Amino acid sequence: MNNTFELAKLLISKKSITPDDAGCQELIASRLERIGFHIEHLKFGEVDNLWATYGDSGPLFVFLGHTDVVPTGPIDEWDSDPFTATEKGPLMVGRGAADMKSSVAAFVTSIEDFLKDSPSLIGRIGVLLTSDEEGPAIDGVSKVVDYLEEKGEKITWCLVGEPTSDSRLGDVIKIGRRGSVSAKINVIGTQGHVAYPDKANNPIHGFSEPLAELSKLKWKDQTGEFQDSVLQISNINSGTGVTNVIPGNLVLDLNVRHSPSTSVEQIKDDVQSILKKHPIDYEIDWVIGGKPFLTTEQDLIDAVKDSINEVTGIEPTCTTDGGTSDGRFIAPTGSQVVEFGPGNASIHKVNESVRIEDLEGLSAIYKIILTKLTSETNSESS
Ligand SMILES: [Zn+2]
Repeated sequence: MNNTFELAKLLISKKSITPDDAGCQELIASRLERIGFHIEHLKFGEVDNLWATYGDSGPLFVFLGHTDVVPTGPIDEWDSDPFTATEKGPLMVGRGAADMKSSVAAFVTSIEDFLKDSPSLIGRIGVLLTSDEEGPAIDGVSKVVDYLEEKGEKITWCLVGEPTSDSRLGDVIKIGRRGSVSAKINVIGTQGHVAYPDKANNPIHGFSEPLAELSKLKWKDQTGEFQDSVLQISNINSGTGVTNVIPGNLVLDLNVRHSPSTSVEQIKDDVQSILKKHPIDYEIDWVIGGKPFLTTEQDLIDAVKDSINEVTGIEPTCTTDGGTSDGRFIAPTGSQVVEFGPGNASIHKVNESVRIEDLEGLSAIYKIILTKLTSETNSESS
């Protein structure tokens, strides 16, 4: 059995449900310390973070990942214990198998393999892990980024090990992510008897036209790398449950996943101008979920694509879809960010799994990326 598989199995056996790290980072730190890494455990609130670096000078390449996992869901729906990595034909099943303990294991084994060859380094290597990616993400990578900024530490390339592959290892990588902005609108009416509408003010009727206009809002992507941004209404609540009462208010939630071509201010302005056109009383509260990013420099993207191609023969597709990731905290520092990890078909589900043969492939690809970016040895000539 390969080394990455063994390490992933050990990590899965640790019940690290957000924000509990359950000893995963201690295990990783001891492996990295053994090969000469400088270790810093950064605890913010109840969140464990690990910052480990190797090398003295040159551009900094960082593997970014998380040790926390989402809860198991109904345990009796699992075919095996979610915290015992179990082989099932070509698959390893367990919570975190794909998201993302296999990638974290591959970070370590790829670095171990890479340094074993005594490469002549022209850059530095870092590993950044948090136990709060699946949760509120307040005391995780965003705090570590503040800490690094204070130290004057600057990341050049960041490889996020989130599971991006679709049907085969390496077929999809992410070079950006959309931002997320939400609003809650409270439309204030006047409650009354349905038989006396002139003595009430029905917020459902009042909001019907703005609702139709809001649901058509769309912003064109100008980067060519993102889908157009659309507004989605996710909740709408009004009414007392009986048929003879006009409700006193209506509450609605909306969310926009937006490309970097559309600013939060633009979205706010367009929503507000629809609301202001109509004779309604309302309050609105905005929540910014995450900023969008897009990596446009080519060196990290090329290193990842070429390394995948060398191991698998695949030409990866670059995408920017899906939810947000911790890459959103690193990109604003000026670092190039690319996400690449194993298949994501089973993430957050019961019987989450990863293909066992992909573990070795992932470690081999990560090693070639390290070689291309941080050493003088070109993997193609070795
Ligand atoms: Zn993840």
